[in-house]
Amino acid sequence: RAKLEGRNAYCFFVRGMEEEMRVRCALEHDLGQALTHDEFLFHYQPQVELTTGRVIGCEALIRWHHPKYGLLYPSRFISMAEESGAIIPLGEWSLREVCRQLKVWQREGLPIGHIAVNLSAVQFRYPEFASLVDQVLRDASVDPACLELEVTESLAMENPELAASLVAQLKRLGVKLAIDDFGAGYSSLGYLKRFPVQMLKIDRSLIDELATNGCDAAITIAVIELGHSLDMHVLAEGIETREQLDFLRRHHCDFGQGTSFAAAMPAGEFAACVRRFAVGDPL
Ligand code: C2E
Ligand code: MG
Ligand code: MG
Ligand code: MG
Repeated sequence: RAKLEGRNAYCFFVRGMEEEMRVRCALEHDLGQALTHDEFLFHYQPQVELTTGRVIGCEALIRWHHPKYGLLYPSRFISMAEESGAIIPLGEWSLREVCRQLKVWQREGLPIGHIAVNLSAVQFRYPEFASLVDQVLRDASVDPACLELEVTESLAMENPELAASLVAQLKRLGVKLAIDDFGAGYSSLGYLKRFPVQMLKIDRSLIDELATNGCDAAITIAVIELGHSLDMHVLAEGIETREQLDFLRRHHCDFGQGTSFAAAMPAGEFAACVRRFAVGDPL
C-alpha cells in the first residue's frame, strides 16, 4: 500500500514537472511575439514618505497578460527574456510606456514625483543605454528628474568599470538612480562609493522579520544610517505590518513601499489611490 502511494506521488510529481516544462516552453515561444501583440502592462505601487504619509512616487512593476495563462508576474518571464535577448526591446518599450503614463498623470495634475523602473543587468550592458534613456525622455518630453532607474548590485558587480561609467552618464542626464534589493545579496559596501545614487532600497527579506529577528533589525538600522551618511534617501520594501512601519519610522527610514500602504495596482486605480493618500492620514 505504502509502495503504491509512493508510486502515485512519484507519478503525480513527474506529471507536475512535465506540465511545468510544457508551460515554460510555451511561454518561451510566446515571449517572442508578446510585445508586438501588446500583451505587457504595468502595475504601479505607491512609495510613501513615512513621516507624512504622502505619496512621493511609484514603482512600475511589469505584468504579462498572456492570452492563455492570464496575468503573469515577472518571476515567470523576466529571466527568460534576459536569456533570449527579448529584454532589450522589452526594456525600451518599458521606458517609453512608463514615460507615457507619467505624462498622462502629470496632465491630470496628479501630485507624483517620480516613477521608478527596474532595469535588468542585460540592458545595462548595452553600450548605448544612456543615449537610449536620453532619447526616450526627449521623445516623451519628460523631466529626467521624474524618472528613477532601479539597479541591483549584481549589475554593479559583474562589470564595475562599465557600470560606473554608465551611472555617471545617467547622472549627467539628470535621471535618479536607486539601488534595489540592498541587503539581499553580497551588498559589498565598496560599490556604494563607486555608485553615488540617490536612493537605497532595503530588501524585503530584511523587513520581513524586523519584529522577531534582532539581527535583521540591527542590519536594517545600520543600512538606514549608512544610506543617510552617504547622502542617500532610504526606502524600505515590503512593509506589511504596523509593527514594521513603526520600527522604520522610529529609526528615521525616509520612505516605504508595501502592502501596508497598497499593493501594486493597475494604472486606472493608482490615481484614485494617490488622491486618497493626499487627503487622509494613512499612517
Ligand atoms: P522588486 O523590484 O524588488 O519589486 C518588489 C516586488 O515586491 C514586487 O513584486 C512587488 O509587487 C512586491 N511587493 C511589494 N510590496 C510587497 C509586500 O508588502 N509584501 C510582499 N510579499 N511583496 C511585496 P513583482 O511585481 O512580482 O516583481 C518582482 C521582481 O521582478 C521585482 O522585484 C523586479 O526585480 C522584477 N521586475 C518587475 N518589473 C520589472 C521590469 O519592468 N523590468 C525588469 N527588468 N524587472 C522587473
Ligand atoms: Mg524594484
Ligand atoms: Mg526590490
Ligand atoms: Mg527583487
